[in-house]
Amino acid sequence: MRIDMHTHSHYSKDGVMPPKELIKRARMVGLDGMAITDHNSRGGGIVGSDIARDMEDFIVIPGIELSTDMGHLIVLDPKTDFPKPLTLLKALEIIKEEGLVSILPHPNRGLNGIKPIEEEPLEVEGIETCNARSSKSQNRRASHFADLWKKARIGGSDAHLAAEVGYGVTIIEGDLEEPDEILEAIRGIKTEAECHSIPLPTRVYENSRLFAGWIRRGFRRI
Ligand SMILES: [Zn+2]
Ligand SMILES: [Zn+2]
Repeated sequence: MRIDMHTHSHYSKDGVMPPKELIKRARMVGLDGMAITDHNSRGGGIVGSDIARDMEDFIVIPGIELSTDMGHLIVLDPKTDFPKPLTLLKALEIIKEEGLVSILPHPNRGLNGIKPIEEEPLEVEGIETCNARSSKSQNRRASHFADLWKKARIGGSDAHLAAEVGYGVTIIEGDLEEPDEILEAIRGIKTEAECHSIPLPTRVYENSRLFAGWIRRGFRRI
């Protein structure tokens, strides 16, 4: 199965796509499922998983990409909101208490990538070793930590536009039908990751759009 584990809808401050459009695109490019992981909002994931509930051949995993003091952290299928502001320590504590699955996205990227330290393994289930918006060397470095810490390898596009969906993919053997089964595969480190570069025109357009948003927010990161 091919699942894009990192996407943003208009429930993200810097997102523009309705969850329905993201799902449409994901099915069009032949994916079997996706996680909708909006910045600090469970909204897109909840709406998306409602839409997908009646689909026989497509799974939506609701998620969230949390902003913490150390950088971003993805949580899959969170049942409640997280406090704001949030430290990484507090987030990991809640995740452990509630038995949730977390993924370290785009480590070492810009201001929002958590910078892992080899001797201090993070208590996450997966590491995003393929983020379509990260550089090859950032993904290689992420891969190093997945090997070192024996974590599931996760692929995601980090799409904010429908056209970006599917450029990063998590691959899982078998024909799973429920989001819970996918979470189990991540816990069991039974995943592989694959990424492709987003075409340059889309990348340039998207980076300038995100840059303009950053200026509009008064140079505040998300
Ligand atoms: Zn992020
Ligand atoms: Zn993201």
